Amino acid sequence: MKPNVYIIQKAVLEKNKNPKLRGSYNIKVAVGLIEYEKDNQKKYMVIDADQLVYWSEIKRNIEQIAGSFEKVTHLLLTHTHLDHIQNISNFKDKIVFLANKTSILGQAEYGSQEIYPDGYIEIPEIRYEVLPDGHSHDDTIYIIDSANEGKVIFLGDLIFTSLDKMPIDRLIGMEKRASIDPVKKFFYLQEIYKKYPEVEKFYSGHNDQTLSRKDLKNFIDALKNNKEWKDYLYSYISKRNKELDFFINKLEKF
Ligand SMILES: [Zn+2]
Repeated sequence: MKPNVYIIQKAVLEKNKNPKLRGSYNIKVAVGLIEYEKDNQKKYMVIDADQLVYWSEIKRNIEQIAGSFEKVTHLLLTHTHLDHIQNISNFKDKIVFLANKTSILGQAEYGSQEIYPDGYIEIPEIRYEVLPDGHSHDDTIYIIDSANEGKVIFLGDLIFTSLDKMPIDRLIGMEKRASIDPVKKFFYLQEIYKKYPEVEKFYSGHNDQTLSRKDLKNFIDALKNNKEWKDYLYSYISKRNKELDFFINKLEKF
């Protein structure tokens, strides 16, 4: 049986109006819940843990669908930036998954057992792909073939939100502060678009709306055709080259 997918917390991203917190945002992360069947039992996985301040609301929403939080088996993370992981300790004894590295919270062992080497988690309809060093070191997207929503992808912060909520100049400011490599991140999006033509719904880290396949294409094209964005990527690459030259030099003299 195919799993069901729910959004149990809608994402939010708006500028904070508090003058003391200049440059900060009020945000909520898109939190997903997957209902799947294994060993003739209904079980659940949560995608991203979000911020502590929203925990009681999130837990209530999980319980409303799952009946009990006990039935949650996994926490799947898109990446480990603070806004996505603050509730992680509430997932004691669950499997926490990121970039095919797993750990069971509450047990002493920590490390990188690769327990899902075949690209899916528990059932073939819940797949993942690791796209490292774009937005963060361990970005992981989840591709779910669901009964209720069709094929969907959780992108995490490979897209923060749509360009009408965060225009390109602000996006550039955000990328400078929050992403490891905006060039890689940008090309990852193009790869995803090409690789998954059957996916019609994309959930991004901080967008209250679902992106359609066409929205994703429009997002990529808008960046591709924007001079400011291209200049930004070139300036990133040239800065990176200078850094690499510096270290090559250093190594040669070492
Ligand atoms: Zn985020």
